Amino acid sequence: MDQQQFYDRLNDRMLRYGASPLDQTQVVTITASPGYLASYDGQVAALVACNLLGRLSPSVQIGFPDIPIHPRLPWAGRSLVKHALDGMRTADPFGSYGTRQVTAGDFRFHLGPDGHNTVIHGSGWNAYIGTGPSQLSPIESDVGIGAALAVVLGAANLFRTRFGAMTESFACNAWDWTDVPKRVEFSPVEISLGHVMTAGLGSVGSAANYFLALATRDFRATLIDPDGVGIHNITRSPIFTDADAKIDLAKVEAVAAFLRRAGVEDVADDPVALHQSALWNLRETGATDVLISAANEFNVRYHIEMGFPPVQLYATTGRNWQATLMRHVPGAKACSLCMFPPDEKFAPTTCATDGPTAHQTTVEEKRPDAALPFLSFAAGLMTAAEVLKLNYPGYPFSAKRVMLGLKEQPLLVGTSIPHRTGCLCEGRHKGVHKAAIAGSRYAKFSI
Ligand SMILES: [Zn+2]
Repeated sequence: MDQQQFYDRLNDRMLRYGASPLDQTQVVTITASPGYLASYDGQVAALVACNLLGRLSPSVQIGFPDIPIHPRLPWAGRSLVKHALDGMRTADPFGSYGTRQVTAGDFRFHLGPDGHNTVIHGSGWNAYIGTGPSQLSPIESDVGIGAALAVVLGAANLFRTRFGAMTESFACNAWDWTDVPKRVEFSPVEISLGHVMTAGLGSVGSAANYFLALATRDFRATLIDPDGVGIHNITRSPIFTDADAKIDLAKVEAVAAFLRRAGVEDVADDPVALHQSALWNLRETGATDVLISAANEFNVRYHIEMGFPPVQLYATTGRNWQATLMRHVPGAKACSLCMFPPDEKFAPTTCATDGPTAHQTTVEEKRPDAALPFLSFAAGLMTAAEVLKLNYPGYPFSAKRVMLGLKEQPLLVGTSIPHRTGCLCEGRHKGVHKAAIAGSRYAKFSI
């Protein structure tokens, strides 16, 4: 495959979304304040910035000095610059990626609380982009979520304004998802997350696992998805590479390999649809603690909801530059089928007790598989942030649905999820559901 064919496929979903790729002659140089780069949050920002910007643009230079990767991160002790550079080159072998000082004419993407006229800064669960110095007060505990969120916001601004300046500042937090920074000193590394099952390892599911692994390796992962990696998947996932696409590697295999290399010890994967997976169908009562439901094919939400799921967290990307985070706890008045009803033509009925075997379409499935790289990163990050909070007393802290809009200045809006009259969940027995998830780590959130 030549360079043009590669880029045609690489940017296919962005073009379908109605957006055009960035000018590849415009060099982006990532710089960082030295103190920030030495910190856990700063290194999360550096890794995510190289990963995301390298997928958004074929012309990215690393303008910060090399240091060993922070002890709290996967790949601890290795060269930060080499790791970041290798990541960009494996995603896009035709791109121009290297290291050099920032030069006149470069677009400078600066990480840290200060050091440039505009800054991208995260601390704890808080994120800030805009004129420097940062408005955030420093948070001691290592979380990385705010740092990663700031990079996503900064990348969205770069893409939206086509390398324009950040003229307006914006601050927010990923704890209760409002535009007011919050003083929360909670690091998710103290307690195991338990068994995290992901149904659907496309861009959002793979990104959620990527961000989880940056924060902690103390969880058991189960990955279920029938698809292989294609070149068109590379720009929207922080994990998939050109080498994966060349051999049509199963998405679950690519994510499993990433997690194992990062230090997650217990990883199981199944390259089939959820309703065909023994890991889902034959799981023991209470064995799955949280489900990241990031699939939308094969009527997956029907199979999830009829299978008495544990706490479900996921986020979708929308047609209007938004990522929307969703939470369903067992027993709540709205399930995921209330949000995404099955197509009536193919809808299973409540009398279908022997279980559907045919491929049934949902309304959601008909949407074109198109999104922008930073939207998929945002959706994965929002999902991971929620999983990381589950162990904190008093969870949840936000509305059941939170939309992050990036079409203009960033916008966060929390809303409830209404029940849909006639939804299949009306026939679901709460007692049976409670019994089915008894013993799972987060069963206490059931209603
Ligand atoms: Zn429902």
